[in-house]
Amino acid sequence: MLQVEILTIGDELLLGYTVDTNAAYLARALADAGIIVSRRATVGDDATEIARAVAEALDRTGAVITTGGLGPTADDRTRPAIAALFGRELRRDEGIVARLEARFREMGYASMPPANLVQAMVPEGARLLANGHGTAPGLWLEDARGRWVAMLPGVPREMRGMLADTLLPLLHERAGGEEGVVLSRTLRTTGIGESALAEHLGDLAAGVNGLPLAFLPGWEGVDLRVTARGMPRADAERALEEAVSMLRERVGHRAYGEIGTDLAAVVLDACRAGGVRVATAESCTGGMLGARLTAIAGSSDVYVGGVVAYDNSIKERLLGVDARLLREHGAVSEPVALAMARGARERTGAEIAISITGVAGPGGGSAEKPVGTVWIAVVAPAGERASRRVFPGDREEIRRRATQGALDMVRRTLQPTL
Ligand code: AMP
Ligand code: MG
Repeated sequence: MLQVEILTIGDELLLGYTVDTNAAYLARALADAGIIVSRRATVGDDATEIARAVAEALDRTGAVITTGGLGPTADDRTRPAIAALFGRELRRDEGIVARLEARFREMGYASMPPANLVQAMVPEGARLLANGHGTAPGLWLEDARGRWVAMLPGVPREMRGMLADTLLPLLHERAGGEEGVVLSRTLRTTGIGESALAEHLGDLAAGVNGLPLAFLPGWEGVDLRVTARGMPRADAERALEEAVSMLRERVGHRAYGEIGTDLAAVVLDACRAGGVRVATAESCTGGMLGARLTAIAGSSDVYVGGVVAYDNSIKERLLGVDARLLREHGAVSEPVALAMARGARERTGAEIAISITGVAGPGGGSAEKPVGTVWIAVVAPAGERASRRVFPGDREEIRRRATQGALDMVRRTLQPTL
């Protein structure tokens, strides 16, 4: 299989001000195309470092994809550094000059800034990689031994466009189509921790039909990713299909979809199918649950709205929570969670109401109610339930986990068999 190295270039990456999403995106896209990424590295905007990193990668692997440093400013050094490494002169390409000028006119400039002329400088013998999404083309340089560097822009949108439109087809052509693919499927689970899930999966935890299984925990839950490597695409798809259905069966109601599925969308769909509308009453999440629901296009036919009842006075006045309950049990308690949800349901007319009240921290915890303690209640035509959870993490994570826990409770209320 074709092997490549990825080199991302930029001081902002090295310093941690910009997260290197290009490397992650490239790695995934290349794996999907059956190309193995054997190493990833990052260097700053320094010609010596760029040349050294590329030279090492060429010696090791003979194939490198770089991103960044192709822009018009003085800190963009990829082009001259790699041209010098290959011993090629930079020559001005009049075709690129004309395209750059036209593009600047389209964008409403009277003329192209002179600085952009460096983007028309092309190393001798380089192949241009068309850029349908930005100003300058990418570059492909190959030496007499067939070792190559593909230079892509740093701007993620341009990089992605060029990869799909130009570089991947070129790599496929070179590989002659004999490569296998690396394909993955990811099953999303929630409401069960990583180790409990592993125990539940039993023998499958070590792999499914010989396909490796990865546990990917996050605030939404634990994603389970199975990967098939080095097989023809049709075989990989078949193997993954079988693996995912085995996992689904074993995981049961804890699984709510595959990669790219948002639990909020699953809940909205289930409500829509059941002809019910939803309201929210949020304390410690301050509207995050409502934000998650309204982030899904078309949510308005299901989500009616909610109350951010942060202070107890709002819980009393806008949700009708009895002051005595608050006094006797505290705001973070089962009776208050239920009263908040009942109040939201009555006052909005929605069939289902969800409430969240908890201690998000970092202060405010006690032995009885440590930071992370959250009561979630769902009040629906079929009945009421409330559940106490203790979520790990910092304030932000506890709040996110609480919204996910609340959505999961609604999902399971709507499908009583879960
Ligand atoms: P450059 O082509 O190096 O001038 O990069 C242009 C812009 O693209 C930078 O300001 C960054 O915001 C972004 N960028 C560059 N490299 C990366 C990367 N590896 N991952 C994500 N964004 C990047
Ligand atoms: Mg840069």
